[in-house]
Amino acid sequence: MKITQGKINELLNEKACEHNHHKDGQKKNKSCTQQAQPGAAQGGCAFDGASIALVPVTDVAHLVHGPIACAGNSWGSRGSLSSGPSLYKMGFTTDLNENDVIFGGEKRLYKAIVDVQNRYQPAAVFVYSTCVTALIGDDLDAVCHAASQKIGIPVIPVNSPGFVGSKNLGNRIGGESLLEYVVGTEEPEYTTPYDINLIGEYNIAGEMWGVLPLFEKLGIRVLAKITGDARYKEICTAHRAKLNVMICSKALINMGRKMEEKYGIPFIEESFYGVDDMNRCLRNIAAKIGDADLQERVEKLIVEETEKLDRALAPYRARLQGKRVVLYTGGVKSWSIISAAKDLGMEVVATSTKKSTEEDKARIKELLGKDGMMLEKGNAAELLNVIEKTRADMLIAGGRNQYTALKAKIPFLDINQERHHPYAGYEGMVEMARELDEALHSPIWEQVRQPAPWDN
Ligand code: SF4
Repeated sequence: MKITQGKINELLNEKACEHNHHKDGQKKNKSCTQQAQPGAAQGGCAFDGASIALVPVTDVAHLVHGPIACAGNSWGSRGSLSSGPSLYKMGFTTDLNENDVIFGGEKRLYKAIVDVQNRYQPAAVFVYSTCVTALIGDDLDAVCHAASQKIGIPVIPVNSPGFVGSKNLGNRIGGESLLEYVVGTEEPEYTTPYDINLIGEYNIAGEMWGVLPLFEKLGIRVLAKITGDARYKEICTAHRAKLNVMICSKALINMGRKMEEKYGIPFIEESFYGVDDMNRCLRNIAAKIGDADLQERVEKLIVEETEKLDRALAPYRARLQGKRVVLYTGGVKSWSIISAAKDLGMEVVATSTKKSTEEDKARIKELLGKDGMMLEKGNAAELLNVIEKTRADMLIAGGRNQYTALKAKIPFLDINQERHHPYAGYEGMVEMARELDEALHSPIWEQVRQPAPWDN
């Protein structure tokens, strides 16, 4: 797949994306066109985005064709877990040098692919281009094709040089590579009327493992996980699913729409966070599959799980009741976390809406009530201000804001992709309640809020 200006425009103007206001004649949202600025830490380039979307395929070698820093910068920064192979955790790079820049890096890439196959026998090799290899004009597609002929396994080119755009665009480029080279290349051993794909669920901290048993209980088969804890072959067979369930829907929305067009698979956008959203997700899947028996099983399961959950959450609810939270996240849907916090009796007093769509914002407004603050933009100073103004007890945000919370001397919970605890599904709610409780009631807060001895 060549990454041409036409392709980039097509991905930026993705029809199914709610951020894209071109479709209704308004201006396009900034986040679709935002370019990474050299030297500015602003959340990753297109290469980073493509690797976030594809690296969770666990039995594949992910080879970065570029200078070593590209692979080094993003390697291991996301906590996608595997229940089997660990090859995806290895950092492979062609580590280009000045000579390659002058004479071309294609031979080096070819040798690297053959070498990786000889040493590790992966199910496939995913090769990522970067700024340097795109600028010197290496033909990634041709090298991958030649190497694949030689080693007899799929070698998938991912044309994702960082300069083409933001991390979001990179996610979609990753999805395009799967659509073009992987999905539909093999047939599943058998199919059932209850086959679904999970798209945009990356099994961060093992979150998916809290949800898969529910599907199993209901008799729903997850044919392909795209891409958390995935194996290459399952993605090859994804075209036979009856339904695509988009979890982080913005990242791979192009996959959902195009699979609907090409294979007639409908898609729905769901969330696994909070009791309400988890219930809604199961109900929507059953309704979309259109099986009355399954719908009945879902209702039964929801009753059982809710009863179990109420018992498990009772001690936490008592301790978390009325605590005031500032939520600052773009990674997961804010409204989803707000509803999870409300389930626990907590009050979200302010939340970020930077990456939210208009629909998300309407939902957030409804959940926050009239006194809740919606933060369009934010930096550490602004967040400190909001924490003070709202007299918040806690900050729930991404890892980089933990020091903001420490400055405000309030507890902090990491909610973004670097988190170490799974919060999805019913089990995830208990885990979240436990983490919130431990953070809020840690004895350290009493100590750090004491005046310093030299101030006495
Ligand atoms: S692909 Fe480009 S922008 Fe991304 S890390 Fe490499 S050099 Fe930097």
